[in-house]
Amino acid sequence: MHFLELQLHNNLLKAISEQGYKEPTLIQEKVIPLVLAGKDVIGSAQTGTGKTAAFALPILQALLESGHVVKRGKKIAALVLSPTRELAVQIDEAFKTYAKHTNITSAVVYGGMSIEPQKDMLNKGVDVLVATPGRLLDLFKQECFDPTFIETLVIDEADMMMDMGFIDDVQKIEKICPEEKQTLFFSATMPQKVVGLSNTILKSPESVDVSPRSSVAKSVDQLLYYVPKAKKMELCLHILRNTVKGNIIIFRRTKFGVEKLEQMLLKNDYKVASIHGDKSQAKRQEALQEFKDGVVNILIGTDVASRGIDIENLDAVINFDLPNIPETYVHRIGRTGRAGEQGKAYSFCSADEKDYVLAIQRLTHNSIPVEEEHPYPLDPNEKPQVHKKKSGSKYRKGRKSEASKKNKKRWY
Ligand code: AMP
Repeated sequence: MHFLELQLHNNLLKAISEQGYKEPTLIQEKVIPLVLAGKDVIGSAQTGTGKTAAFALPILQALLESGHVVKRGKKIAALVLSPTRELAVQIDEAFKTYAKHTNITSAVVYGGMSIEPQKDMLNKGVDVLVATPGRLLDLFKQECFDPTFIETLVIDEADMMMDMGFIDDVQKIEKICPEEKQTLFFSATMPQKVVGLSNTILKSPESVDVSPRSSVAKSVDQLLYYVPKAKKMELCLHILRNTVKGNIIIFRRTKFGVEKLEQMLLKNDYKVASIHGDKSQAKRQEALQEFKDGVVNILIGTDVASRGIDIENLDAVINFDLPNIPETYVHRIGRTGRAGEQGKAYSFCSADEKDYVLAIQRLTHNSIPVEEEHPYPLDPNEKPQVHKKKSGSKYRKGRKSEASKKNKKRWY
C-alpha cells in the first residue's frame, strides 16, 4: 500500500516523505482509515510498529479537514495520554514532525518539571496536547487545562498506565473530556484488566492487532546464563569483554541496581549512561541523547524508565535481572533485532529467578538456549531444575542426562 491511498493531506504527505517513509506500516494501514472514519479503536501494538504515526496522522488530517485551527483558535482538540515523560516527549516530537507543513501546533506536559512554563504554554493555546496523567490533572485543578473542545482522546501504552497505577487518573481524565469524542486505545499487551479498562472507555471499538505480545521476533538470538546472584557483575563484565559488542541496553529491576552497575562499569572504563525514575527529566533526556548520539554505547535502565523509547540500531539487550512479568521480557528483547537486523538478548538467571524463565517460556511457547560455558556457573545444588522441552510445546521437569551435559548450549 502507498500513503497516497490513505488520502492524507498533501502537507502531511510532504512531511512523511521527508521522513523517508516509503509505505505505511501494518498498523498505519489498519488504523488510519478507522480513525478517519471516526471509529473508536483498540490497538494491540508495541513501540517500533509505527503506532505513533498511526494515530498522529489521522488526527492531524481530521484537524486539517475540519478547519479546527481557523474556526476555534488554539483550543485543545486532541489529547494524548502517555505513561512516561520520555514517551510523551517522543510523541510530541512525532506530532511536530508530521505537522511541520501545517499550522497545527502540539505541546507536551509532564511531571517532574516546573508547572509554570507549562501553564503559560497552555494559556497561549495549542491544538494537540500530549500529557502524563498526573500533571494533566494538576493543570486541570489549577484551571489551566480546558478539555471542552477535545474531539479525540488517545490512551497510549494502556498496560503500562495500569502497571504504574495511573488507572484512576486515566478514568478521571476520560470523564472530564466531552462525552462525544473519539477514543483510541493502544496497549502492547492485552491482559484482562486492560481489556476491562478499555470496555469502560470505548464505544463499539474496532480492534486492530499487529503484534501478539507473546511472540518474540525471529531475528533475536536469545541466550540464558544460570549464574549466582553475587556473580552477576562479574558475568556482565565477562560477556562485555568477550561476547557482546555494539550498542547495548542493560535492564535492571531497581534504581539502586542500575546505579550500582553503572558505577562498576564506569570503573572498568566502559562508556555508560543510565536512566531510571529517580533521575530528573533533564538527566534522563541527556542519558538518552548520549546513547542515541553514540557518546556512550551502553545504557542501563529500569523497565519503567526505558519502556517504549524508540532506540534504533540496538545490537544487544542484557537482562541483568529477569523481569517477573513475562511480557516485559518480550518488550525488552523486542528492542533489538529490528528492521531485519539480527539482534542478541542475553539473560542472567539466578536461583531465585528460575520461575521467571518458566513463565517466559510458557508465554512465548519457546525455550531459551542455555549457555553452559561461562566462568560463573550456578552451584549444582542451587541450579534450577531443568525444564526440558519435549517434542510438543509442553515442558516437563527432569534431571539433565549425561549426554545432554556434553552440549555447550541446550534448549530448555
Ligand atoms: P513508533 O512505533 O511510533 O514508536 O515508531 C517507531 C519508528 O518507526 C519511529 O522511528 C518512526 O519514525 C518510524 N516510522 C513510523 N512510520 C514509519 C513508516 N511508515 N516507514 C518507516 N518508518 C516509520
